[in-house]
Amino acid sequence: MSEENNEGLLIVSEDACKSVIDRPSAFKAVENVFAAMSRGDAYNFPVIREAIGYADALYGFKSGFDRAGKSLGLKSGGYWPGNAAKGLTNHQSTIFLFNPDNGKLRALVGGNYLTAVRTAAASAVSIAHLARKDSKVLGMVGAGHQSTFQLRAALEQRNFEKVVAWNKDADRLGNLQAVAEELGVPFESVEREQLCAEADVIITITSAFEPLLMKEWIKPGTHIACMGTDTVGKQEVDEALIAAATVFTDEIAQSISIGEAQHAIKSGAIKESDITTLGDVINGDHPGRSSDDEITLFDGTGVGLQDLAVASAAAKLAVEKGQAQHISL
Ligand code: NAD
Repeated sequence: MSEENNEGLLIVSEDACKSVIDRPSAFKAVENVFAAMSRGDAYNFPVIREAIGYADALYGFKSGFDRAGKSLGLKSGGYWPGNAAKGLTNHQSTIFLFNPDNGKLRALVGGNYLTAVRTAAASAVSIAHLARKDSKVLGMVGAGHQSTFQLRAALEQRNFEKVVAWNKDADRLGNLQAVAEELGVPFESVEREQLCAEADVIITITSAFEPLLMKEWIKPGTHIACMGTDTVGKQEVDEALIAAATVFTDEIAQSISIGEAQHAIKSGAIKESDITTLGDVINGDHPGRSSDDEITLFDGTGVGLQDLAVASAAAKLAVEKGQAQHISL
């Protein structure tokens, strides 16, 4: 058998991903790939996302290639809204990694846990690079599956002294409260206007289709990470807020088409050239926040390269720690 055939296929399970990828490794993988995207070393291919006309599911592919990190592949999956009632996660995904030197399938990696940690890592990277250093109050908007991952990663970025949170259905805030209490940070359930009046950093992680936060509620100097809007029509913040903020994103093409900026772009409130990639800030090509009064906003749309970055790290670590299964194709 040739050396190429001996390489085999790695299977990296959800449990293996949980055991080998912690928040710092997800943060590093996402920060590195955002930087690689901005240098032009990594690019995402067009996203495919379709309503399949069955089980109310949205299904699709996010794919790309990172020449610097040698990650080639795709994440396949989507959203099955009926899953929660069956005790399953609504978002289901699997990551396929290919050898960029020969095109062979290299690894199948469970994508559910990795999606949550890479999405949380994206907002955490934005907080690390854009939030005021003296930020004390963290505001959480949304209390679904992703929200606790977001909260844990965000709390590691600044010396937060309090968490204020809002959810459409306040009864669901218990999961966020439990995390804050576990980490010794006081927690309060508040209305949206109060959340904006108190918070120095706000994360939105909802499936809303209308603005939840208004420009006039936001304090000068706030950093907002808008993480929920990843589809045409979704919206979490007021267009006027986008226009008033300095806007950063993971990828401009997604920000203007499926991200939070889509509405402000459509109405002409901002132009594509008003948006900067977070990678430019990481690479030192953009200064990031310019004053303590500036409102910074990160439009986190979620790119395939984030998935490939954390999946590649998971595959490497799982092999090193004997937690990957090998099979021949
Ligand atoms: P979930 O279904 O577990 O929770 C949905 C949350 O949105 C809940 O807090 C719910 O109360 C809130 N919500 C729903 N409709 C609302 C409305 N009309 N107004 C206000 N709040 C509303 O979902 P999840 O897994 O936590 O994901 C949350 C969102 O993040 C989804 O929209 C998902 O598509 C998106 N997402 C984005 C990325 C990314 O990379 N940017 C990655 C994963 C998920």
